[in-house]
Amino acid sequence: MTPQREKILHVFQNLPKGNHLSAEELHTLVEKRGESISLSTIYRSVKLMARMGILRELELAEGHKHYELNQPYPHHHHHVVCIQCNNTIEFRDDTILKHSLKQCKKEGFQLIDCQLTVMTICPEAIRMGWPSALPTDWCCTRVISEREAKENSTKEHN
Ligand SMILES: [Zn+2]
Ligand SMILES: [Zn+2]
Repeated sequence: MTPQREKILHVFQNLPKGNHLSAEELHTLVEKRGESISLSTIYRSVKLMARMGILRELELAEGHKHYELNQPYPHHHHHVVCIQCNNTIEFRDDTILKHSLKQCKKEGFQLIDCQLTVMTICPEAIRMGWPSALPTDWCCTRVISEREAKENSTKEHN
Protein backbone atom coordinates (compact mmCIF):
# COMPACT_ATOMS: atom_id res chain seq x y z
CA MET A 1 0.00 0.00 0.00
CA THR A 2 1.23 3.54 -0.76
CA PRO A 3 2.23 5.75 2.23
CA GLN A 4 -0.82 7.97 1.57
CA ARG A 5 -3.17 5.03 1.76
CA GLU A 6 -1.44 3.80 4.93
CA LYS A 7 -2.10 7.22 6.52
CA ILE A 8 -5.74 7.22 5.43
CA LEU A 9 -6.20 3.69 6.76
CA HIS A 10 -4.69 4.76 10.07
CA VAL A 11 -7.22 7.60 10.44
CA PHE A 12 -10.09 5.16 9.88
CA GLN A 13 -8.63 2.61 12.29
CA ASN A 14 -8.55 5.25 15.03
CA LEU A 15 -12.06 6.62 14.51
CA PRO A 16 -14.56 6.23 17.36
CA LYS A 17 -17.15 3.56 16.63
CA GLY A 18 -20.09 4.74 14.52
CA ASN A 19 -18.19 7.52 12.74
CA HIS A 20 -18.43 7.90 8.99
CA LEU A 21 -16.26 10.37 7.12
CA SER A 22 -16.75 12.31 3.93
CA ALA A 23 -13.62 12.94 1.85
CA GLU A 24 -13.56 16.53 3.18
CA GLU A 25 -13.77 15.41 6.81
CA LEU A 26 -11.04 12.85 6.21
CA HIS A 27 -8.88 15.58 4.69
CA THR A 28 -9.33 17.73 7.83
CA LEU A 29 -8.39 14.82 10.12
CA VAL A 30 -5.31 13.96 8.05
CA GLU A 31 -4.14 17.58 8.31
CA LYS A 32 -4.79 17.57 12.07
CA ARG A 33 -2.33 14.71 12.33
CA GLY A 34 0.24 16.96 10.71
CA GLU A 35 0.21 15.07 7.41
CA SER A 36 -0.43 16.74 4.12
CA ILE A 37 -2.35 14.93 1.43
CA SER A 38 -4.23 16.99 -1.14
CA LEU A 39 -8.00 16.75 -1.27
CA SER A 40 -7.88 15.39 -4.82
CA THR A 41 -5.50 12.60 -3.71
CA ILE A 42 -7.90 11.85 -0.83
CA TYR A 43 -10.83 11.58 -3.28
CA ARG A 44 -8.87 9.23 -5.53
CA SER A 45 -7.53 7.13 -2.65
CA VAL A 46 -10.86 6.51 -0.91
CA LYS A 47 -12.43 5.49 -4.24
CA LEU A 48 -9.60 3.06 -4.88
CA MET A 49 -9.62 1.72 -1.31
CA ALA A 50 -13.34 1.11 -1.64
CA ARG A 51 -12.73 -0.83 -4.84
CA MET A 52 -10.05 -2.87 -3.04
CA GLY A 53 -12.56 -3.78 -0.34
CA ILE A 54 -10.66 -1.91 2.40
CA LEU A 55 -13.20 0.89 2.83
CA ARG A 56 -16.94 0.91 2.56
CA GLU A 57 -18.58 3.57 0.45
CA LEU A 58 -21.85 4.60 2.07
CA GLU A 59 -24.78 6.14 0.31
CA LEU A 60 -26.35 7.78 3.32
CA ALA A 61 -29.22 10.21 2.91
CA GLU A 62 -26.99 13.22 2.32
CA GLY A 63 -25.80 14.01 -1.19
CA HIS A 64 -22.10 13.22 -0.76
CA LYS A 65 -20.53 9.86 -0.02
CA HIS A 66 -19.23 8.75 3.35
CA TYR A 67 -16.61 6.14 4.13
CA GLU A 68 -15.76 3.77 6.94
CA LEU A 69 -13.63 0.64 7.32
CA ASN A 70 -14.98 -2.44 5.60
CA GLN A 71 -14.97 -4.76 8.58
CA PRO A 72 -15.46 -8.48 8.25
CA TYR A 73 -17.82 -10.54 10.37
CA PRO A 74 -18.43 -10.20 13.38
CA HIS A 75 -17.91 -6.41 13.24
CA HIS A 76 -20.03 -6.20 10.15
CA HIS A 77 -22.96 -3.78 10.49
CA HIS A 78 -25.81 -2.05 8.68
CA HIS A 79 -27.29 1.46 8.92
CA VAL A 80 -30.57 3.08 9.81
CA VAL A 81 -30.64 6.60 8.37
CA CYS A 82 -33.08 9.44 8.98
CA ILE A 83 -33.88 10.98 5.58
CA GLN A 84 -34.77 14.30 7.21
CA CYS A 85 -31.57 14.95 9.19
CA ASN A 86 -29.14 12.10 8.33
CA ASN A 87 -29.09 10.86 11.91
CA THR A 88 -27.46 7.45 11.43
CA ILE A 89 -27.37 4.48 13.74
CA GLU A 90 -25.63 1.17 13.21
CA PHE A 91 -27.05 -2.28 13.82
CA ARG A 92 -25.92 -5.86 13.39
CA ASP A 93 -27.88 -8.58 11.69
CA ASP A 94 -25.99 -11.70 10.73
CA THR A 95 -28.91 -13.28 8.90
CA ILE A 96 -28.59 -10.69 6.09
CA LEU A 97 -24.92 -11.58 5.72
CA LYS A 98 -25.64 -15.31 5.80
CA HIS A 99 -28.26 -15.01 3.05
CA SER A 100 -25.87 -12.95 0.95
CA LEU A 101 -23.02 -15.43 1.43
CA LYS A 102 -25.26 -18.27 0.34
CA GLN A 103 -26.27 -16.38 -2.80
CA CYS A 104 -22.64 -15.50 -3.65
CA LYS A 105 -21.51 -19.10 -3.19
CA LYS A 106 -24.22 -20.35 -5.51
CA GLU A 107 -23.09 -17.99 -8.28
CA GLY A 108 -19.35 -18.25 -7.62
CA PHE A 109 -19.00 -14.60 -6.53
CA GLN A 110 -16.72 -13.56 -3.69
CA LEU A 111 -18.46 -11.44 -1.08
CA ILE A 112 -16.60 -8.20 -0.29
CA ASP A 113 -19.19 -6.37 1.75
CA CYS A 114 -22.88 -6.54 2.51
CA GLN A 115 -24.67 -3.42 3.65
CA LEU A 116 -28.26 -2.62 4.21
CA THR A 117 -29.33 1.02 4.44
CA VAL A 118 -32.73 1.47 6.01
CA MET A 119 -34.32 4.83 5.24
CA THR A 120 -36.30 6.23 8.16
CA ILE A 121 -37.66 9.28 9.96
CA CYS A 122 -36.10 9.67 13.42
CA PRO A 123 -38.30 9.88 16.55
CA GLU A 124 -37.53 13.56 17.09
CA ALA A 125 -38.63 14.51 13.57
CA ILE A 126 -41.87 12.55 14.05
CA ARG A 127 -42.49 14.39 17.35
CA MET A 128 -41.85 17.72 15.62
CA GLY A 129 -44.58 17.01 13.08
CA TRP A 130 -42.72 15.63 10.06
CA PRO A 131 -43.28 16.26 7.20
CA SER A 132 -45.59 19.27 7.00
CA ALA A 133 -44.62 21.10 10.21
CA LEU A 134 -40.86 20.87 9.66
CA PRO A 135 -38.69 23.40 7.81
CA THR A 136 -36.75 21.61 5.05
CA ASP A 137 -33.40 22.24 6.77
CA TRP A 138 -34.58 21.03 10.18
CA CYS A 139 -32.14 18.80 12.04
CA CYS A 140 -32.47 16.71 15.21
CA THR A 141 -30.50 17.73 18.33
CA ARG A 142 -28.16 14.73 18.06
CA VAL A 143 -26.99 15.70 14.56
CA ILE A 144 -26.61 19.36 15.59
CA SER A 145 -24.47 18.48 18.62
CA GLU A 146 -22.31 16.14 16.53
CA ARG A 147 -21.86 18.91 13.97
CA GLU A 148 -20.86 21.40 16.69
CA ALA A 149 -18.36 18.96 18.16
CA LYS A 150 -16.79 18.54 14.73
CA GLU A 151 -16.62 22.30 14.15
CA ASN A 152 -15.05 22.88 17.56
CA SER A 153 -12.35 20.28 17.00
CA THR A 154 -11.50 21.95 13.68
CA LYS A 155 -11.34 25.37 15.37
CA GLU A 156 -8.97 24.12 18.10
CA HIS A 157 -6.62 23.01 15.38
CA ASN A 158 -6.51 26.41 13.68
ZN1 LIG B 1 -21.20 2.38 9.90
ZN1 LIG C 1 -33.98 12.88 11.95
